[in-house]
Amino acid sequence: MNQVETKCPVCGKWSSGTGKIGARCPHCDAQFDPMRVQYAEAKRLNAEMTVKDSYLIIKDSDDTIVQMSKEFINFIRWTTFYGISIVYFFIAAMIIIFGLVML
Ligand SMILES: [Zn+2]
Repeated sequence: MNQVETKCPVCGKWSSGTGKIGARCPHCDAQFDPMRVQYAEAKRLNAEMTVKDSYLIIKDSDDTIVQMSKEFINFIRWTTFYGISIVYFFIAAMIIIFGLVML
């Protein structure tokens, strides 16, 4: 017995649901758990946005110029990220070196 009895929030009838996201009532075709469906959808969109935002996807159908500029922008983004890390590392190193000199 791995089937779950689900009560439909719209028509109030019981049916054996599978517990899957987006399961619908066999009596009135209402979604059992619209909030859960929305949440899953929002999470999926959010993940897509994160991927799109983190780098530019280079397609084979793009012109060479477009591919090159996308690669360049990606390069700048990564350089900026690592550049900031290196600056912090450099500052930390300077503090340690000056600290040792002052002793
Ligand atoms: Zn129903």
